[in-house]
Amino acid sequence: MSGTEAAAGTPPRHGPAELVTVAEHRRACLDLVQPLAPLEASLLDALGCVLAEDVVATRPLPAFDNSAMDGYAVRVADVAEATPASPVRLPVVADLAAGSAESMRLAPGSAVRIMTGAPVPPNTGAVVPVEWTDGGVASVEVRHCPAEGQHIRRAGEDAAAGVVVVEAGTRLQPRHVAVLAAVGRARVRVRPRPRVVVISTGSEVVEPGQSLGPGQLHDANGFGLTAAALDLGAQAYRVGVVRDDPAELRRTLEDQLVRADVIVTSGGVSAGAYDVVKEVLHRTGSVGFCGVAMQPGMPQGAGTLGEDRTPLLALPGNPVSAFVSFEVFVRPVLRRLLGEDPEAPDPQRPRVRALAAAAWRSPAGKEQYVRARWWRDGDGALRVEPVSGAGSHLVTALARADCLAVVPVGVDGVEVGDEVECVLLGPAA
Ligand code: AMP
Ligand code: MG
Repeated sequence: MSGTEAAAGTPPRHGPAELVTVAEHRRACLDLVQPLAPLEASLLDALGCVLAEDVVATRPLPAFDNSAMDGYAVRVADVAEATPASPVRLPVVADLAAGSAESMRLAPGSAVRIMTGAPVPPNTGAVVPVEWTDGGVASVEVRHCPAEGQHIRRAGEDAAAGVVVVEAGTRLQPRHVAVLAAVGRARVRVRPRPRVVVISTGSEVVEPGQSLGPGQLHDANGFGLTAAALDLGAQAYRVGVVRDDPAELRRTLEDQLVRADVIVTSGGVSAGAYDVVKEVLHRTGSVGFCGVAMQPGMPQGAGTLGEDRTPLLALPGNPVSAFVSFEVFVRPVLRRLLGEDPEAPDPQRPRVRALAAAAWRSPAGKEQYVRARWWRDGDGALRVEPVSGAGSHLVTALARADCLAVVPVGVDGVEVGDEVECVLLGPAA
């Protein structure tokens, strides 16, 4: 069965013959979403969002010729002979501070005291920095001659009027926000942050901060997945844990639909009894379940819910499986909603090829994602090594990992020295 069929509601089937590939399931997940419609946002709200318009400088930047230094506006010919040994003295006829709106011309044989950013009188030849003078107020002694135009910032030298200063499609970082403000924009059109509702399921799962009864464990997934969505720039809401009770899950999903651009659940998707997510969602006919040829993270569900066909991704419950599933399926979905191209390299997830410093086995029929650490050797070579323990419940090993080493389908093991593709979980060191 194809991933697309799975998303459209094909009944769940498990077993090696029916596994879909990672790429197929990712495609099925991506097919559920479109970039969110743009809206106007104030600049600071737009930080981290994808710009949905080309932003143009409507006037030259800077808007007027101005001084680059605290000093004196002069005509170069008047100070051509100035040296430290034989300075030239000029009368100071005015004082121009930044923000000054005074319109004046520089008379021959005079100087105007001027501060950084103040508009230079139109016939100024250059600005003599205060350090080249005696700093005089009524008159000034100039000890060096500036070059024509020196220390004057010209109107439009940063951007001419009409020039695009930030292109549509840019994920706005602080430096972009600065330039948007510099060209006078208070609001810009951006794709909004996707609203992601994260629901953990499992009658054994308890809120952190509460004491554990027999057979219980704390909700790692609700927090981990919500944090991952926030980290990616989404607006994420963690819903408290839902017990393995179909009615409770149905009620929770109905309640949450109104505020979700996408719903992410964890747990209850495998083949056991009490697999409540599969039980409830399978009946809707619009969410399909399948086995994906990957380790960890084989059981997956995807589809839509409700009148608005809200996309829903159902991830397995083991914390490592849930985390890897987020990386492999939820991340691209959120990137598309945000307005990024999910097929383009992910700036937050650089990839490197590293040499295995240890050997490990891999199931040949599955794409394997191994929690690993990478480093640069003294000889400059990149190396990678799994962190101890392959079990999908080993969440502390996940925390120690700084990359996922990806072993492709068809490979049953990695030998020392083999080159392995690694997805870095943070910025490259
Ligand atoms: P399930 O997919 O519901 O069968 O869960 C698989 C395993 O993951 C079980 O051992 C669950 O106890 C565990 N698990 C499920 N949900 C969570 C969660 N939110 N946090 C931590 N562990 C979980
Ligand atoms: Mg469960």
